[in-house]
This record gives sequence, structure tokens and C-alpha cells, in this order.
Amino acid sequence: LSTLYDNVLRFDNVEIMHEHFVTSLIMDNGVFKGVTAIDLRTGEFKVILAKAGIIATGGNGRVYKFTTMAWSSTGDGYSLAYRAGIPLKDMEFPQFHPTALVPNGILITEGARGEGGYLLNKEGERFMKNYAPSRMELAPRDIVSRSIITECLQGRGFVDEESGLCYVLLDLRHLGEDRINTRLPMIREIAIKTLGIDPVEEPIPVRPAMHYMMGGIHVDLYGQVMLDEDKTRVPNLWAAGEAANVSVHGANRLGSNSLSECLVWGRLTGAAAAKYAMNAPDTMLEYTGDIETKVSREESRVFDKLLHKEVGAENPYAIKDEMNRTMDTYVYVFRDKSGLEEAYSTIKRLRDRFPNVRIEDKGRYYNTNLRDVLELDFLLEQAELITIGALTRTESRGAHYRLDYPKRDDVNWLKHTLYFYTAEGPRLSYVPVRITRWKPEERKY
Ligand SMILES: Cc1cc2nc3c(=O)[nH]c(=O)nc-3n(C[C@H](O)[C@H](O)[C@H](O)COP(=O)(O)OP(=O)(O)OC[C@H]3O[C@@H](n4cnc5c(N)ncnc54)[C@H](O)[C@@H]3O)c2cc1C
Repeated sequence: LSTLYDNVLRFDNVEIMHEHFVTSLIMDNGVFKGVTAIDLRTGEFKVILAKAGIIATGGNGRVYKFTTMAWSSTGDGYSLAYRAGIPLKDMEFPQFHPTALVPNGILITEGARGEGGYLLNKEGERFMKNYAPSRMELAPRDIVSRSIITECLQGRGFVDEESGLCYVLLDLRHLGEDRINTRLPMIREIAIKTLGIDPVEEPIPVRPAMHYMMGGIHVDLYGQVMLDEDKTRVPNLWAAGEAANVSVHGANRLGSNSLSECLVWGRLTGAAAAKYAMNAPDTMLEYTGDIETKVSREESRVFDKLLHKEVGAENPYAIKDEMNRTMDTYVYVFRDKSGLEEAYSTIKRLRDRFPNVRIEDKGRYYNTNLRDVLELDFLLEQAELITIGALTRTESRGAHYRLDYPKRDDVNWLKHTLYFYTAEGPRLSYVPVRITRWKPEERKY
């Protein structure tokens, strides 16, 4: 990002809008027109019209409490697109990384196990031998995650007093101080600074955390946004990075492939959007009556219905906490019908309570309270979509594991889920998986 930023600074025709929070996508008859945004520094509500756009807003880890992802990973781009009539795809597939530090969720890289780190249960046993004897700690992320939680469920995990979270230990001691310092210096530093544990002397506590959203905005192979099952494209809108679902990761992303995806599709979509914009007429930037109506509706949503609302008894942070706990409990590594139904009805109840939230800070300048509430609105929507998708997919595939449907079912479920916004709630539809060279087969370790 520093390289990109440095390069962009060289061009005086590139305007960077720092500290702008996009609240909605403006679409008109299937064409992208621009966005509405709040300048967080002044609170000014802005309309930014554009000939072409790329959505690159990242993932939505903050739907969960225990996540390796940034505070800003609130899935805004998913909701911006979804509310503007663009379907999302495969949202039932968040990826859980097996080793996040307990209780803070900081990622402990796969490199730690790649270097030879052991996972140990309460009995001091390298339990992966019972789940993936040939791959042990280096089995795929979903398998290691489920193995850790199985150890916990069967009483062979430890419990963190502060958070109540169950965990296992990642033991690096046998690697020795020199190797840890050379190969895993950041892991050592993080463990010492955040937990006061030196991995040279002691094993560190880990458990699976929400790490990546494998679903995303429905796009074609070149990142161009699609509106339906029939591949109708938005002529001037693309999505890239974790916001997009190009389908390169399927239901089980391999480590390192996300940044490669960002680079490849960042370039493809950037070139396509620039080419489109350079050839598009200036009439595309006209502020028509239809756009004005959409903008004033959005301004009213943000300011009248949220910021300046006189009454409101609900604490948004309490709603967020309940959503997080619900997702961490029922829509995690193991799922089943009754848990998912419980989660779905809780999320629906939280969504019903949301319009009654109270924003304490009524000011305009850097109103992070307002930003948090706008993000919460998006997060609740994401939580609902992830849960309904997981409930509907009655099979296990990659990171989506149903205790009541433990087998992969290619006959009925080798297909992508599309999520469409309707006023009555999400509508799910399906499109086939495109199989080319590699045929699906059973995984064995
Ligand atoms: C701890 C960690 C380690 C990882 N390590 C690896 C790795 O080693 N290899 C690998 O391939 N992948 C890794 N990943 C995954 C990978 O880093 C991410 O998938 C990738 O960085 C996503 O990039 P992005 O540009 O799509 O989104 P982001 O980097 O999340 O950027 C999105 C941007 O959009 C902004 N934004 C969001 N909403 C709005 C809004 N409403 N208005 C304005 N701006 C908005 C955000 O502030 C942010 O700046 C890791 C992920 C984590 C969490």
C-alpha cells in the first residue's frame, strides 16, 4: 500500500479523499453513478459522481468478536452493493484461521507451524495425529480449526479466565531461541508485548478466529460487477480484493492467495475502469432528478433517522456485542440447524431493535459514534446473510461445516449461492460452479 500511495502522489490529477466514509452507492437503471460519503473531519455529506468505480472495501471480520481482522473490516462494500441491487455471492463461507492468540485474536501466522510448531491439548498431546496423521499441524485451515474446537468440546482444552474462551497451546520451544528470533521474530514480540508470554520459554494460547470472507460481490472473471444469474454486467463498476467474489478461493482459501488476488484483480479492474472512464462522455456526470431523490433519501437516513433522532433507547454497542457473541457461538467452525435458527432469530431481533439506537454524540466533527452506528447497520445485514446462507446449505464444504450434514454433497450443492436484496428480506438463488481442469474429489489426509 505504501508503494501504491507513493506512486499516486506523483500524479497531480489524482485526488485522494482521506477520512471519507462512503454511505451508499448510487445506481441508476443498472449503471453506476457514484457514491454518497461523509467527510469525517467536517461531517459534511457529499455526493461524488463518477464515470466508473471499483469497490475495494475489504472483508467483514467484525461480524464476529474473535477475529484477526481490522476494526474497519465491517463489510461496508458488501452492504453498499447489496442495497443498490447488486447480488452477493457465497457469503456463508467465512474462513476461520486456526491460530489466533487468545484472548486478543491477533493472528499467529501459519509460518509458526510451518517452522515446526506443535499444537498441544491439555494432556500435552499433539492431537493433530488423531485428525490428520499425514499432515499433522499443517493440515488445511478448516481441518485444524475443527480439530482444535473438537479438543475443546471434549474437555481437552484450556479455558482463558478473562474471556472464557477455550484454547489449545502452540508450542515453539523446541525450535530454540535463535530460530524463533530469525524466522518468527514478530510472533515472539506479539506474544511478549500483548500477553507477557515468551514463546521461547512457554507455549502460547491459540484458537480459531474469523479471518477472511470468501464470499463477496458477484463479479465476473475480470472483476466486473454482475447484476443477476444471467451475467448482466454493470458497464462501469468493478470490485476487487476481499470485497469481490471472483471465486478463485472456492470454499477454502489457501494462505497467501488473497494478496495475490488483490494484486492481479487490482490491476485488471484498475485498467478496465480507467479505460472506461477515459472514453465515457461527461454527460455521465450529470446530476439528474433521479439521483437527487436517491441522495436526499440517503441524507435523511443518515442524519434524520440516525444522528438527529430525538429518542432512542438502544445502545448500539450492546447490540453489536450480542451480534458478535451470537455469531461466535452459532455460526462458527461447527454449525447445525438449531444453532443457526437460534442465531437467525437473534440477528432478526437485533435488526428490529436497530432503528431505535441512540447516538450520544450529536456533533459533526469526527463523529465516530455515527460511523460506528452506520457500520453496525452493515454488520447486522452481513450477519443475517452469513447465517441464512449457512442454514440453507445443508451439506459441509470447506470452511462451512454442518454437524447435521457432515458430508460434502456435490449432487445437490456444487453451486454458488447468490443473495439478492428485497424489501421482505434476502432472496437466495444459485448458479453453477464452473469446473475446468481440476475435477472435484474427496480430500484425504
Ligand atoms: C492479520 C491478517 C493477516 C493476513 N495475512 C495474509 C497473508 O499473509 N497473505 C494473504 O494472501 N492474505 C493475508 N490476509 C488476507 C489479506 O490481507 C486481505 O484479504 C487483504 O488485505 C484485503 O485487502 P483489500 O484491499 O481487499 O481490503 P482492505 O485491506 O481491508 O482495505 C479496505 C479499505 O476500504 C476501506 N473502507 C471500508 N469501508 C469503507 C467505507 N464505507 N468508506 C470508505 N472506505 C472504506 C477500509 O478503511 C480499508 O482501507 C491476512 C489478513 C489478516 C487479517
